[in-house]
Amino acid sequence: MIKISIDLGTCFYLSISILILILWIFWERKKTTNKITENNLWQCPICFFEYIDSRSKEISKCPRCKTLFKKSEKW
Ligand SMILES: [Zn+2]
Repeated sequence: MIKISIDLGTCFYLSISILILILWIFWERKKTTNKITENNLWQCPICFFEYIDSRSKEISKCPRCKTLFKKSEKW
């Protein structure tokens, strides 16, 4: 077995932990931004209210004026 000092071992262990944490944060942030911009952001064609609706895919209901509209009608 390779002999390493406690200092070096601790430093190596901490570096790996921090690296994994940073990668995880970046991955989560990328996932959320994609989710919002591509699928969940809606703009009402009647009152131009912008909101996030993760449940609907084609037809959504505006929370402000209660109008039902299709995704294709998005302006
Ligand atoms: Zn509306």
